Amino acid sequence: MTDLAYQRCIRPSCAATYAIDEVRVACQACGGLLDVVYDWDRLNPPRELSYFEGKWSQRYDPLALSGVWRFYELLPFAKREQVVTIGEGQTLLQSAPAVAKYVGLKGAGKLLLEYEGMNPSGSFKDNGMTAAFTHAHTIGAKRAACASTGNTSASLALYCSVTHLMKAVIFIGSGKISYGKLSQALDYGALTMQIAGDFDDAMARVREVSSRLGIYLVNSVNPFRLEGQKTIMCRVLEGLRWEVPDWIVVPGGNLGNSSAFGKAFAEMKEIGLIDRVPRLAVINATGSNTLHELYEKRSLRWNGGEPDQSVADGYYQELDEHARRASTIASAIEINRPVNLDKCLRALEFCDGVVREVSDQEILDAKAQVGAGGMGCEPASAASVAGAKLLVEQGVIQPDERVVCILTGHQLKDPTATVAYHTTDQDQFNKVLGSRGVKRASYANRAVAVPNELDEIVKAIQLYS
Ligand SMILES: *Cc1c(COP(=O)(O)O)cnc(C)c1O
Ligand SMILES: [Zn+2]
Repeated sequence: MTDLAYQRCIRPSCAATYAIDEVRVACQACGGLLDVVYDWDRLNPPRELSYFEGKWSQRYDPLALSGVWRFYELLPFAKREQVVTIGEGQTLLQSAPAVAKYVGLKGAGKLLLEYEGMNPSGSFKDNGMTAAFTHAHTIGAKRAACASTGNTSASLALYCSVTHLMKAVIFIGSGKISYGKLSQALDYGALTMQIAGDFDDAMARVREVSSRLGIYLVNSVNPFRLEGQKTIMCRVLEGLRWEVPDWIVVPGGNLGNSSAFGKAFAEMKEIGLIDRVPRLAVINATGSNTLHELYEKRSLRWNGGEPDQSVADGYYQELDEHARRASTIASAIEINRPVNLDKCLRALEFCDGVVREVSDQEILDAKAQVGAGGMGCEPASAASVAGAKLLVEQGVIQPDERVVCILTGHQLKDPTATVAYHTTDQDQFNKVLGSRGVKRASYANRAVAVPNELDEIVKAIQLYS
């Protein structure tokens, strides 16, 4: 292969390669996942991360403004003039002392929240979408599709509506998608297919439909998505003045993010941009804990590129036999069959990773803490903070280590969960949260009911403040 960038099967025993302009979501030879691979020797990327500081003074250039494409040299699979960007990745690494205290970390600046809710569609998905969309555009796609728990569809719909380069077809499970996300897909004008089933069903159908109709698939099985998501780690390093933190903690759903982070660090190390790698913690919700079950309980490992497929297959068979469906308030990670499992195993291996699961109770309590001491987030994002707290309690993360939690989505994505947590209406609490085993709202900030009378209002303010 003489191309500077190409696609390659992640299984070392196969390693089949495909040209960059081929549209595939799996290896034709063995069915494995695909990587985008670069010939770094010939591409000659920068050898110092501080090189990228030069882009800060070029913000009039859309490629330097974008928080994804200002790291273009680390994902050069398309020509610069082909890149489709809507200004994604202008995100913030926020030091959050109050949340650090909750998590159990000691000292200033030990807990940092990478707030991906600042993206144009309100979640980290835009990092991947700009890359997949760029690839789709370069190969001349006219329609793009995804199955989604909500944020991928919101992102795809937005790229389509802003650029008018493609038509969006989105598949969602019925009754599962949060209002914030559904409202985006509808508002941005996507063709929205509501499947009578859950995310795992929608994922299976969208693969079939896109292959039958030749529609470009932008789910995170798409290797180009992950190229964009690598840059979340570049921005974390940027926010730390290019210092590598001790831990990256991320919620795990389809495992695209964790996989992309592992690839980012592997490549940066190979190029010589970093000399050490942070540890990776991937956090499942208890109600959709496939990775935790397989990695921590059944010891499934990357194993030099030969993970024992029978371990995962056996588990999926058990799920089917017991008709067990994913179920968590954190709808963005309500996924039982993570498509990027093998890549995530590779990332866990490279980053000496751990996997944990946290309950909906722990997720919502952590979310309330992020709201009160950070910029707020949707339920799935708070799994990272709940997971960090658990790992500190277990002595896996030391209290003086520097920890970055990825807040994957915006606070306004799922108002139903937030309002139900803070509500004074017990029926509403029970309906939305009690049914999921959530017993308390320990950090609820309840609205104070007052009569429509000045004196009473004044009295109440004095009482409560
Ligand atoms: C998609 C999503 C996740 C899950 O990320 P994966 O890469 O699929 O593991 C977590 N949180 C939010 C808000 C998401 O939209
Ligand atoms: Zn292969």
